[in-house]
Amino acid sequence: MAERTQLVVIGGGPGGYAAAFLAADLGIETTLVERRANPGGVCLYEGCIPSKALLHAAAVIHEAKHAESFGLSFGAPKIDVDRLRAWKNEVVEKLTGGLGGLAKSRKVRHLRGEARFKDASTLLVKSDAGESELQFDHAIIATGSQPVRFGHFPQSDRIMDSTGALELRDIPKRLLVLGGGYIGLEMSSVYAALGSEVVVCEMADQLLPGTDQDLVRPLHDRLKTQLSQILLGTKVAEIKVDGQKLQVRFEGLNVEQPTQSFDRILVSAGRKPVTDGLGLENTAVRVTERGFIHTDEQCRTTERAIFAIGDVAGQPMLAHKASHEGRVAVEVIHGGKSVFEPLAIPAVVFTDPEIAYTGLTENRARELDRKVEVVRFPWAASGRALTLGKIDGCFTKLLVDPDDGRILGGALVGPGAGEMIAEITLAIEMGANAEDLALTIHPHPTLSETIMESAEVFLGHSTHIFRPRKAPSPAKSGA
Ligand SMILES: Cc1cc2nc3c(=O)[nH]c(=O)nc-3n(C[C@H](O)[C@H](O)[C@H](O)COP(=O)(O)OP(=O)(O)OC[C@H]3O[C@@H](n4cnc5c(N)ncnc54)[C@H](O)[C@@H]3O)c2cc1C
Repeated sequence: MAERTQLVVIGGGPGGYAAAFLAADLGIETTLVERRANPGGVCLYEGCIPSKALLHAAAVIHEAKHAESFGLSFGAPKIDVDRLRAWKNEVVEKLTGGLGGLAKSRKVRHLRGEARFKDASTLLVKSDAGESELQFDHAIIATGSQPVRFGHFPQSDRIMDSTGALELRDIPKRLLVLGGGYIGLEMSSVYAALGSEVVVCEMADQLLPGTDQDLVRPLHDRLKTQLSQILLGTKVAEIKVDGQKLQVRFEGLNVEQPTQSFDRILVSAGRKPVTDGLGLENTAVRVTERGFIHTDEQCRTTERAIFAIGDVAGQPMLAHKASHEGRVAVEVIHGGKSVFEPLAIPAVVFTDPEIAYTGLTENRARELDRKVEVVRFPWAASGRALTLGKIDGCFTKLLVDPDDGRILGGALVGPGAGEMIAEITLAIEMGANAEDLALTIHPHPTLSETIMESAEVFLGHSTHIFRPRKAPSPAKSGA
């Protein structure tokens, strides 16, 4: 006889395990079906966590080099790749093992295997022991995403996706990174710091396509000093395997060397939702034109008892979005009236300098024809930034509603941007206006003061930069 569960969560990534854990906390009998031994998903095994561990190593190398400018020399770094790889793996194992322990403590039942829908209330779970049936009252699909592959490139273990790049098998002499999105740039920074000559090739005319240009510029300038070449408006037309080398032919407007040789290639040209083989055709679950599972604001699919969250349910494909959606789905299943309607979802690019943005962006405001006032506070005017010696092009920006001073969006470029963006996100969610930020006492000397001072720029009285307002601020004048 088939086993039964109140809730089954398919996929143990940050969406799936957050959902399963909350469900168990709320007293729902929960089964998690996941192929791997422990929860964690892409984020912990081959995404956020290992990449940030390696980026930390890259940051240490850069810091040590940069310290020469204020009189501290450490010499050239000695890189023990085996030890670095082992340390990164230890971080991943510690976290995923910890999650496995948390699942057990909460009595979440883990079925290790691959799930497929037989119908809208039955799953087939294939494991090493064979196939079993599981009947459920509710299901949450959290199967995540996988790298887009290009069928026309040759088969070679020298052509990697981000998972392969994070394995850090060696440090290639010449690495081509195909794709200038955040994953490509984070991995470029790692390999360049470890000593590879890195070439980035991007089809669009800017790195981080779609991101506000002012945020990208300082990063582009810094990367120019770290990478061997940045090819914009360029595509890889052909790759030929030539023994241990890969011969690449580029096509584009300004390609000076159309054919170049590399030791490895990282293809980082986007990710796609994992729905293949899930048996969705046996249910009423529908996918969008772009292949994501169609959901409403409660994360419910077109099949009433089945929900979908995280990467498989659409953009932005970020871990924190996945876990928030997971919690909403569980609250709805538990009988709550929750909806997923954030005003702001922060995004962070963990390069040097870091880029973080949240809420409305300038690009989006233009698309929406939304009137905003944009204020910037350059970090050259921040005492704390100067003590870090890290100010080239760094700044804090706020997008403010010119009518009532409400904070609509914000961005930071510089060290710690990824930590500080939470403050602007909170301000947006709480409906704070520029005056609220300006009146909130920030500790000195910190980089977070730049958020307070950006708000003061809007109000026309920033202490550390002189930029009088043309007209009195509506927020100040009580409008
Ligand atoms: C290199 C890299 C760096 C990243 N860095 C960041 C970052 O810094 N910050 C950030 O927010 N995001 C980052 N991301 C994105 C982040 O990893 C994803 O947004 C996040 O993991 C999505 O979570 P999820 O729960 O939707 O699914 P996933 O984490 O993709 O997990 C899905 C799980 O489902 C399992 N599964 C799939 N199909 C089945 C099935 N049929 N049966 C059983 N199990 C199944 C898989 O084994 C997997 O464990 C990064 C991604 C990559 C690749």
